[in-house]
Amino acid sequence: MTILVAGGGIAGLAFALTCHEIGEEVQVFEAASEIKPLGVGINLQPNAIRELYQLGLEQDLREIGTEAEEWALFYYGAHPVWTEPRGTLAGYNWPQFSVHRGQFQLKLLTAVRERLGDAAVISDASLVRYEHIDDQIIAHFTNAAGESFSKKGDLLVGADGIHSNVRHQMYPDQGSVHWNGAIMWRGVSRCVPPRTKNSFVMVGGMEQRFVCYPVEPLDKNGETLLNWIAELRPQDQQEVNQSDWNKPAQAATFMHKFQDWRFDWLDVPEIVSRAEGIWEYPMVDRDPVERWTDGRAVLIGDAAHAMYPHGSNGATQGIVDTRVLGAAIKEHGLSTAALAQYEARQLGPINELLMRARGEGPIGVLIDIEKRLSEGKTLAEAIDRHEVETFMARYKQAAGFDRDTLNASQQIVQV
Ligand SMILES: Cc1cc2nc3c(=O)[nH]c(=O)nc-3n(C[C@H](O)[C@H](O)[C@H](O)COP(=O)(O)OP(=O)(O)OC[C@H]3O[C@@H](n4cnc5c(N)ncnc54)[C@H](O)[C@@H]3O)c2cc1C
Repeated sequence: MTILVAGGGIAGLAFALTCHEIGEEVQVFEAASEIKPLGVGINLQPNAIRELYQLGLEQDLREIGTEAEEWALFYYGAHPVWTEPRGTLAGYNWPQFSVHRGQFQLKLLTAVRERLGDAAVISDASLVRYEHIDDQIIAHFTNAAGESFSKKGDLLVGADGIHSNVRHQMYPDQGSVHWNGAIMWRGVSRCVPPRTKNSFVMVGGMEQRFVCYPVEPLDKNGETLLNWIAELRPQDQQEVNQSDWNKPAQAATFMHKFQDWRFDWLDVPEIVSRAEGIWEYPMVDRDPVERWTDGRAVLIGDAAHAMYPHGSNGATQGIVDTRVLGAAIKEHGLSTAALAQYEARQLGPINELLMRARGEGPIGVLIDIEKRLSEGKTLAEAIDRHEVETFMARYKQAAGFDRDTLNASQQIVQV
């Protein structure tokens, strides 16, 4: 009885650990010939941290990441729209962690290899297609040398990201990714963090924004590895049909728009000038779909619901998927009933979250603020604190990390 997983990213590896926890045999097939620490920063919300702690990964998170203390939104330079504590400082039972995506993926990989053995993760194995035969599913793979091989299993979990082949087989006509016209330039720079030792800071408006937060604890000089994203909506929009997380970029492409973003508490040109590397990525997601299952195949993570990253939800929701699916398998075994239960619990709320992210997610408040400014209101008049508070509370509820609900809820996987 085996579960096959296509994709050894965050969701695929977290799912392998969940399978180990519930006593199911699993094998992960990753297209890359070697899993390298790619990507820059991501945030893991308390609803994902609870699951990672249950998987015994607290120490790993502390070694590579840092607890978020604050979330702060500024309307351009100096005008706070909203600041709030995060994680345990906000009364959650679990912290919010900021981590380097690649380092986190390597920690998951190490844990999988230690617990399940080296053979549990097969690299250079790209899923091409699947087929059902009797009560089983056959996954067909290819490698970089062009060789093909197949593997039979009881379930196939598509954790193969935004360009998922599993999803493509389920939805051959889905078309290209959906782009909102914005580009994000991303990097990490060693510098003193703004505000607290770990504030998630977002500065700007609807046309232009800068986001930064540390992904490591402070070093002895009081500096950290600061993850940053400069986001612009270019005027000369072209079609984006693909998206590559590893596309290198130059600061000159966007910095002319941020040159005077030097405030007494945040110096954007200085941060960007210290970048160890810069990558660009379009603001893309995929349209929600009505099913994540096809017989014995099921989608999780970005393969199921790639969404805009401004809510810090990609990795978090991928991890929660793995736990809901694990709980369903524990209850119903390696069956289509398990997949149906997972889909019934996750698909509706996560598709709604995807659409909220498309509507700018937690920064959607800026839309109303800019509307009021265009009507002649002053900034102080345009920012309605009660409205922002309500908006933020609704967002957390939708994203599954409303504090009181989460603190009071039962663990997803009962062991
Ligand atoms: C290289 C990379 C860098 C990223 N950087 C960032 C970042 O800086 N910030 C951010 O917010 N998000 C980033 N992401 C996306 C983020 O990791 C996801 O949104 C989130 O963690 C959900 O994870 P996932 O496992 O569903 O997808 P992913 O993390 O994208 O993992 C998918 C995995 O599947 C593998 N794969 C793809 N196709 C196949 C196939 N046909 N067969 C087998 N394996 C396949 C990929 O190589 C990858 O390892 C990055 C993703 C990747 C792959």
